[in-house]
Amino acid sequence: MEKKKILIIGFGGTIAMVVDTKRKALVPAKNIHEIIEMVPQIKDLADVDFVDLENLDSTNINPHHWTKLALFVSDNMNKYDGFVITHGTNTMSYTASALSLALGRGLKKPVVITGSQLPLISIGTDAKFNLENSVKTVLTAIDKKIAEVVVVFSDVVLRGSRTVKISESDFKAFDSPAVDPIARIRSTGIFFSKDAFRIDDSIPFDCNPHFDAGVLAGDLTPGQSPSLIREVLKSGACKGVILKSHGAGSVPSQGEYNFLPLIRDSVYTYKIPMLVSTKFLGGNSYKEVNDEPAVEAIEAGAITQVI
Ligand code: ASP
Repeated sequence: MEKKKILIIGFGGTIAMVVDTKRKALVPAKNIHEIIEMVPQIKDLADVDFVDLENLDSTNINPHHWTKLALFVSDNMNKYDGFVITHGTNTMSYTASALSLALGRGLKKPVVITGSQLPLISIGTDAKFNLENSVKTVLTAIDKKIAEVVVVFSDVVLRGSRTVKISESDFKAFDSPAVDPIARIRSTGIFFSKDAFRIDDSIPFDCNPHFDAGVLAGDLTPGQSPSLIREVLKSGACKGVILKSHGAGSVPSQGEYNFLPLIRDSVYTYKIPMLVSTKFLGGNSYKEVNDEPAVEAIEAGAITQVI
């Protein structure tokens, strides 16, 4: 049977780095080909092409890179059966979420993002394991007509838009606390759950690759002064605010640290949306019956997650 066509897109990260012994630093490898030569078995699995799109430490990735990546995948959508993107772990979750939003539910091809805690050249590296399993995952997804943006890391396949990095050193570096893994990687194969997004032909593919960078996101802490955020609203550079609240959407609503006037002014005076989320991994903020400070935030005009 003809091998499936897979495009491996190099976007940087530790997986694509080599050690500069003089500076004791991880530096980008020359190119993705230098990397793939270290895992030749990939070519036995699929008809693989490789391309270097970026070669960055992912700490330096920003929404412009998300746009570039989304457009590149979209432009190559009809040439390949699936995609694997190598990426740094530091901001992988953000890129996975952005790509999920950009490519949307009308996606017809699986897109896997992976990386590693150790460079491919290191003894005991997880890079080979993650890269080979990423190709196996994308091939299994193609076979089962599954198409969504996922993160493959260690022995799980996670929904890209629900993934968080949980460790700077554990090989199990990612989790999706709010959604079960959509597939598990076992010695006997890749096993997708019934919740994985199957291709839905009723939804046309439509790429929306543009993002705004002027979003302020932060945890609420006791004694935090709303005036700090008010200065940001007045700057004219802010396009949105995400408050990670106490509990399920509660914000301080009394005395000198009262956030309600700030929310009202943000929404109605500065016309800047304010979303009240929660700081708990896998948590939700609710519109239904909730603590009074949470209800008051909604009454003041805040947007809250709807479970
Ligand atoms: N500094 C690396 C990055 O690009 C870390 C990693 O890839 O694990 O995020």
